[in-house]
Amino acid sequence: MDATDQQLMDGVRRADRRALAKAITLLESTRADHRMRADALLNALLPHTGQALRLGISGVPGVGKSTFIEALGLYLIAQGHRVAVLAVDPSSSLSGGSILGDKTRMEQLSASPSAYIRPSPSSGTLGGVAEKTREAMLVFEAAGYDVVIVETVGVGQSETAVAGMTDLFVLMQLPNAGDDLQAIKRGVMELADLVVINKADIDLDAATRAEAMIASSLRLLGHAGHGDGAPSRVLKLSALKAQGVDTFWQKVQDLIARRRTTGEFAQRRQHQGQAWMWDLIHAALLGDFRRHPDVRRALPEVLKSVNDSRVAPSAAARQLLQLFTRA
Ligand code: GDP
Repeated sequence: MDATDQQLMDGVRRADRRALAKAITLLESTRADHRMRADALLNALLPHTGQALRLGISGVPGVGKSTFIEALGLYLIAQGHRVAVLAVDPSSSLSGGSILGDKTRMEQLSASPSAYIRPSPSSGTLGGVAEKTREAMLVFEAAGYDVVIVETVGVGQSETAVAGMTDLFVLMQLPNAGDDLQAIKRGVMELADLVVINKADIDLDAATRAEAMIASSLRLLGHAGHGDGAPSRVLKLSALKAQGVDTFWQKVQDLIARRRTTGEFAQRRQHQGQAWMWDLIHAALLGDFRRHPDVRRALPEVLKSVNDSRVAPSAAARQLLQLFTRA
């Protein structure tokens, strides 16, 4: 690392806002020389990471994610925490507009010197966006933010990606039936460590019914941690009125404490670290494979023969892999 990057690193460690912005820009750059500097920076920061609690929050647009994150963030800051909010929004590359991004969000929280709100990187694919977010998370941890919240919209695979980079994944729901069935159908409920029913102030009865219904469907589905005897993982609250935020945080802490005792907490992190490494290896190998001259030459004809059912996909794969490994 040269003197400039050493300075950048020192700035990040001091949580200097300009240094943080610069570091994130460096991480998100696609230039090869930037990538090398970013890797060196990440390696240097790594010993200072890992202390934060990583919280994933997901839900359909309008469920109240920003309102809740702001209420939670302000509550945590009042308790002396420092909070970073990151977002994973692959929709910007699909629709040309961002679901999470455009409106002015979390005004009070963003005005606090103890909070940093970073919009979703716009690097295209979900894999790219998730990758940048995972790296940004490390930067904020090294800067001393001790609660890192990663927000995502309930679209596509983004929930899986966020659950795969956080210690605890929270699914936000509206208090109407049907909504929860959707989540169960899409398999998202399985990812949820906690389910929050928001907007309980509008109709407390409906929220209470939803709470009971989701709790019993989770028990019926036999999801890990939602079994008989385990403390309920479903709770209702009002993000707008900031009611129930303290109960939510207490549940988060209880859950984390229990997982630390059983070793699950460390296991999940180790598993995530390994998955991250393999993701990158897969991506890099696939890139090399696609760029390999023999593969590129043979690919159009092989694809055609697979399309015409002249060659089985398995045989075609072996044929191309042989071209790749022969060299
Ligand atoms: P997001 O799209 O999930 O980030 O949702 P927002 O936080 O932007 O909230 C969508 C709308 O719901 C806004 O008009 C909020 O004021 C409103 N809202 C959020 N939480 C609550 C709540 O607990 N109660 C009520 N009544 N409205 C809420």
